[in-house]
Amino acid sequence: MTARGNLFIVSAPSGAGKSSLISALLKDQPADMQVSVSHTTRQPRPGEEHGQHYHFVNQDEFKSLIAENAFFEWAEVFGNYYGTSRVTIEHTLAKGIDVFLDIDWQGAQQVKKVMPESIGIFILPPSRAELERRLTGRGQDSQEVIAGRMAQAVSEMSHYNEYDFILVNDDFDKAQSDLLAIIHSQRLTTASQIHTQNDMIKDLLAD
Ligand code: 5GP
Repeated sequence: MTARGNLFIVSAPSGAGKSSLISALLKDQPADMQVSVSHTTRQPRPGEEHGQHYHFVNQDEFKSLIAENAFFEWAEVFGNYYGTSRVTIEHTLAKGIDVFLDIDWQGAQQVKKVMPESIGIFILPPSRAELERRLTGRGQDSQEVIAGRMAQAVSEMSHYNEYDFILVNDDFDKAQSDLLAIIHSQRLTTASQIHTQNDMIKDLLAD
């Protein structure tokens, strides 16, 4: 694949604020970045739209897509299947658009293997106490449910060191500007600039 856009992988435990950070990034619909819409077998939550938040499919449809090699990566997360469409990613990157994958650590490992130049970002909450507070929600869940969520979060967080960047989401504005700094610096690497400044560089080096 001759990718020109950058591929960013964003992972985090539930409660780290990943969705809010990604939504804020895309609020003004920038033309040079897109979030990949995954396929999933889980049921839509209230307010979730087919094709916008996820492509909601059943298990048979998901298995057919696996058999067709349609996924760039896929994984079973908390009892449901999730996968990233290969064609969509390839087309978007080829247009020079940066793509964000909101995926778990299992998917991140697969992407890194086939595309080592992809950039992994892991979002952490600022403390265990704050994570617990965020996962407790409105106090309607039992201690057992909250403990289960904490255990899942700890398991996801144990993969933090497989990523290129760690973003601590304590102050939201700071985390957002840190995320933008990562994206911006990535666009300035020689590997990226070779594509974006190709004509100018050719002209500068002409005899
Ligand atoms: P949720 O069901 O809450 O939307 O997502 C649950 C978890 O699945 C999150 O950690 C999310 O990042 C992950 N996830 C969403 N889409 C994909 C995907 O296409 N591939 C993988 N590997 N994980 C995904």
